[in-house]
This record gives sequence, structure tokens and C-alpha cells, in this order.
Amino acid sequence: MNRVRVLLLNAALGPLDYRVPDGMRVEPGSIVMAPLGPRKLPGVVWETESFPVEEIDPKKLRPLLEVRDVPPLRPPLRRLIEWTAAYYFASPASVLRMVLSSGAAFADNRAISEYRLNGTVPERITPQRQLALEKLVDTQGTVSELAFKAGVSVAVIRGLEKLGVFDREDVSPFAATANPSPDFGTVDLSDDQQNVSNILMEAVRASQFKPFLLDGVTGSGKTEVYFEAIAEALRQDKQVLVLLPEIALTEPFLNRFGMRFGAEPLAWHSGMKQSDRKKNWRALAEGNAKVIVGARSALFLPYANLGLIVVDEAHETSFKQEDGVRYHARDVAVMRGLYEQIPVILASATPAIESRHQVEQGNYELLELPARFGGATMPDIEALDLTEDVPPRGNWLAPTLVAALEENLERGEQSLLFLNRRGFAPLTLCRTCGHRIDCPNCTAWMVEHRLTRRLACHHCGHVMPIPEKCPECGDEDSLVACGPGVERICDEVKMLFPQARTAIVTSDTIWSPQRAADFVNQMEAGAIDIVVGTQLVTKGYHFPNLTLVGVVDADIGLEGGDLRAAERSFQQIAQVAGRAGRAEKPGRVYVQTRMPNAPVIQALIKNDREGFYAAEIEARRQALAPPFARWAAIIVSSEDNKEAMETARLIGQTAPKLDGFSVYGPAPAPLSMLRGRHRHRLLVHALRSVDLQNIMRDWLEKLEWPRAVRVGVDVDPYSFV
Ligand code: ADP
Ligand code: ZN
Repeated sequence: MNRVRVLLLNAALGPLDYRVPDGMRVEPGSIVMAPLGPRKLPGVVWETESFPVEEIDPKKLRPLLEVRDVPPLRPPLRRLIEWTAAYYFASPASVLRMVLSSGAAFADNRAISEYRLNGTVPERITPQRQLALEKLVDTQGTVSELAFKAGVSVAVIRGLEKLGVFDREDVSPFAATANPSPDFGTVDLSDDQQNVSNILMEAVRASQFKPFLLDGVTGSGKTEVYFEAIAEALRQDKQVLVLLPEIALTEPFLNRFGMRFGAEPLAWHSGMKQSDRKKNWRALAEGNAKVIVGARSALFLPYANLGLIVVDEAHETSFKQEDGVRYHARDVAVMRGLYEQIPVILASATPAIESRHQVEQGNYELLELPARFGGATMPDIEALDLTEDVPPRGNWLAPTLVAALEENLERGEQSLLFLNRRGFAPLTLCRTCGHRIDCPNCTAWMVEHRLTRRLACHHCGHVMPIPEKCPECGDEDSLVACGPGVERICDEVKMLFPQARTAIVTSDTIWSPQRAADFVNQMEAGAIDIVVGTQLVTKGYHFPNLTLVGVVDADIGLEGGDLRAAERSFQQIAQVAGRAGRAEKPGRVYVQTRMPNAPVIQALIKNDREGFYAAEIEARRQALAPPFARWAAIIVSSEDNKEAMETARLIGQTAPKLDGFSVYGPAPAPLSMLRGRHRHRLLVHALRSVDLQNIMRDWLEKLEWPRAVRVGVDVDPYSFV
């Protein structure tokens, strides 16, 4: 073949044809460098049929520049890229970018230079240099990684390097990976666990597409059971991908995996060093790494011979990516399983309604682990009615919960307070004029972070110092913090129990896998008495001495009232409750609420999971809401509100009128301004029998709007703001 179609790594361009120069060998999937104008762009050779393009005169074709010395992308991955692009209205190039994300595919095999401080202190010290010397203790990385870590420019690091402040290490781009051994630290499974693991191992041996919903209460041994499936894949010399919802969970997972298999898997997440990304990318593309654990982006990596995918905590909404390509990693994982012809395990103690529905439809096989392992009992959940069990003025913890915390402290057991709100207070208000401090770029309140003495917008990241006077009326000392965040709850705990050792766990304090590991170590060593945390602590952790959980405000999640509000509240509270009493000691859970009779709260205290699911599913069926029909959101935004509004209106007016296909809106988005852009939304509702993607493509492709307007489509949306 001397003419090939190439999908270039440029989202604005479709595929282009090139000539293959004599002596160069390429095949579909080959990773190549191609000329584009004066530039050189990476791309992948693709089947001609997938992307029809206008044929041009063969004499005008430019030659490819080179083929990279890495394995070509395999057909299942090429099909996954096409499917993801078509389903989620993304350009194939933007999906391809996730596949080639590490740059390893285009890098040469030269070593990567990394630097670390060697103790030399330069004669002339500037504040920037001082900062770098302080921040980079015990750190190794490339020049740009060190600059980022220290918060200084690359020039500062280069300058220091010339002064001999660093030692250099040339790191090989190839990873030395110890391979996990399937029979290293085997455990004796209970009968229930054994039955489930037999089914999973059989599926791995069969090497066919098969999705499972592994549904077992917290602490029932889901992880132990899917470890057996992983062991079987290793015996077949196949690769395994384990997806986790949160990078903070990677480090504890690596440890636990290491104990079972005698070697740690490779990790993949956004917090990794560039050199590690390159190494890991290569190792898994060449088949040298057997097990990869990662965040959702690991789903698009070019595995050499994948044999199993596990999605742990599969109900987590963080598997939905909300920017760039808006895909749901749980759903794409199942599609990857289909193209690769391998089993996919979705593990959860509180499965998503969508997943339960797939079981009902006969698409997924349900595997259940109904009881906690080793006779540990499920914790008792009790509602505390805040209108009766009233916290003292200016406090947030009810007397019953405070008494329980005190008891637990005396017994030397650990407690956890859960509140899904970062910072100190969600709102700052002027007592004199009533002014609220808003973000200048978003329709959102600035959140007070007392630890860093700042106000921050959780949508765009805008920060400002906490003003001393009201920006509106100028009154001094008139600003008050309204409502609690985790920092404020932690202050309350410290006032009540000055002797208690506390920790705050949020994305502000646990921002790297290493910080997460430190937290886990401290908990296990008993160096923390009371943890106050956001949804970060609801996931996956197993602390045997944690016996009391307090949910500070169970009603937060029910505000806003989107489709999944009740489901999400149920999952979150059941998950956080599941942290209590996971070993011999029984656990207690108190849920503070003003609505003790709300169905969610009742289902939790009566431990009536099935009743709750049945009612929720029935409500969705009645409303023809997902999963009984499909939704897609259209989000129109621009810095110019008039342009955004007119485009949204144009889209609404031209909506096709078809049976089983309706369009609602446009309406200003609840978050009507985000990062300085005005936003309007439409919602498409389609019966499952309707081809949503094709109809929408026909409709939107015909329209034109001003260049500065962005129109995004969010298929199966989770966010409605
Ligand atoms: P889940 O993933 O369902 O929350 P885990 O797999 O984390 O449950 O198991 C909970 C705890 O019980 C863990 O500490 C785990 O090591 C332990 N455990 C579960 N099954 C067994 C088993 N068969 N033998 C020994 N320990 C087990
Ligand atoms: Zn903002």
C-alpha cells in the first residue's frame, strides 16, 4: 500500500491521505509522523473505509516522515475510538489524544534526564531560588516537573542546574516491572466468595465479552473475589485493567495488591511524573506490564493483550468526565470489553440504577455477596432529627452525636464525620448590607478556606484574600461565614475535644496518592482519633478500628433535586456508613437530618436497599427518565450573552419534530455564568428506539453560529448545572 489515510492528532482536522515513501512499512494502527504545512504532526494510520474523505490527486500527496517504533494500535482500540467519538459527539482526534496521551509514542528511546537536590547552596540566593530549594527536598523530576512542583519558572530551575545544585540521573524510558504472581498471597475464600470467584475465573478463561455486576455490601470481599479473576488472567498471561474512581485510592490499592500478588501493578493517573507516564505507556503497549490500575483515562491506553477489566466502586459519578470528551468510563469500559471480547466486572456495594437495569434486561450477569466477611455485622444506622436533637447555637453537631464521639474517644476507637463540603463555609455574607461574595466569573458563591486564608470559587478556581471590609458597603468586621464546611466542623470538634487528634480529608488536603498513603498510614497507626471528610472518605477505605460514623447533613444531597439526587444521597450515606465496624468491633452510624421521614433516610435506617431501589426505578419508569429513555444535554456558551442566547434559540427552533424525540429549552443554565462565559442549556429526550446520535448530528451539522460560541453535547448527562 503506498497511499494511506491518517488520523492526525489535531481535533480541528479530519483524516488526511499521505503517500508511503519507498522502504517504509505501515499498516492500519501504525503510529506515524506526518507533514502538515511547515509542521510535523503525529497521527495513526487508519482504515480508509472508516473515514471517507475527498480523494485528491495522488501526485499531490505528501510523504509520511517516519513510523514510530512502537506497536500499532490494535483493531479493538481503533473501533473503540470510533465508537466513543460517534457516541459522545467528539472528534476522533480528541479521543485519539487520550490514547496517545503520554507522548511516549512519539518520543525517541533516549533516556530522560531527571534532577534532585544534592545539598549545594548557590552563593547568590533569590526568593525564587530559595523557594525552589525549600520545595524540592526529596523530589526528583524533569526540569519542568521541578519548576511546576516549586511554583517557579523553568528558567529558575535551569539557572540552579548550571550552579551545580542538582545531581542528574538519566532514567531509561523502559520500565523494569516485576510481574505479579497469581498464587503469591492467596486467601481462603468463604463459600459465597468461592462460588462467585469460580464464575469470574471461568469467564476469564472463556475470553469472551461478558459484563458482570458484582454487587456485595461494603466489606463483603468484592476485592478479594475479583483478585481471583485477576489471578486467572495472569495465569493466562493476559493483561488486566483496574479502574478506580479517585487517584487518592491508588496508593492503598497498590499496597493491598502487592500483598496478594507479590508485586505492585503499574499506576496510571494525572498526578504521575512524565517519565513514569512514558515508561508505563510503553510497558503496557509492549505487553511487559501485566496489571494497570488507574483513573478513567487508563481506559484508552493501548494494551497489548487485555484479558479483563475491573471497574471498582462502579457507581461513582466521578467516572463521568465533564470536560473535553464527555464520556462515562463505566460505559466505555463495557464497550472496550465488547471490542476486546473479554469479561468486564463492575463492582459496587451500591450499584447505579443504570447497572441494575442492565441486569434486569439480561445484559449483565448479577453476582451477589450478601454478607460481610468473617461475621462482621453491618452497622446500625440511626437518624438524628435536628429539629429535636438541636445543636447548640453556632454549632452543627447534635448532642447525641457529640456524646457518641466522646464515648468513642474514651474507648480509643476512631470516628469519622462526613460532610460533602470543602472549605470552612460555603457563603460569606455582610451583616450590614446583606451583600454575598460571589465569584466574578461564575454564578457561584466564593467559598471560605480558612486553612489557606482565602476565598475560592470551586467552579473556576478563582481565589482572593478574605476581605476585611464588605466590598459593597465598606463596613468593617461585618462579614460573617454562613453554614459549615469540613474545616468548620473540624474546629467544632477541636473546641469540644481539645485532646482529640483530628484530620481533614478533602481534595484540598489529599491531592496526591502520596498524601492519601500518609493519611492511611496515620489511620492504621492509630494516630488520628476523628476524621472529618468529604466524599473522598466514603470510598474504599478499610479501617478496622473505625467504629463511629456521623453524617453531618444528610439533606444537602437532596437539594437541587436532579434526577439522581436521591440515588446519590443513598449511595453516599450507605458508602460512608460502610466505613464503620468493618472488623470484629461493631459500628454505629448517626445521620443528622431535618427530614427523618424522607424515603432515602427511611431506607437507610431500615436497611431496606431493595425497597429503595424498587421505588426509585419505578419513579424513573413512570417519568420515562434514564435508563428507560435517553437524555442528551446541549450546552451553548459564549462570552457574549446575546450570541449565546441567539444560538441556543436557533438550535431550539430548528429541532426536528419526530416521534419519541423531544427537545426542551433553551433556558439559562443554573450555573448561568462559568469562567466568564454565559451559558444556556437544552435537554433532548429520546425513546430508546430512536437513533439519538444520528438525529442530533443531522440537526446540528446544518446549523451555523458565530465562531466565539461553543456548542457542547453531553450524552447521558450527570451534571445539570
Ligand atoms: P469489599 O471490597 O467488598 O468492601 P474487601 O475485599 O475489601 O471487601 O474485604 C473486606 C475485608 O475483609 C478486607 O480486609 C479483606 O482483606 C477481608 N477479607 C475478605 N474476604 C476475606 C477472606 N476470604 N479471607 C481473609 N480476609 C478476607
Ligand atoms: Zn468562578
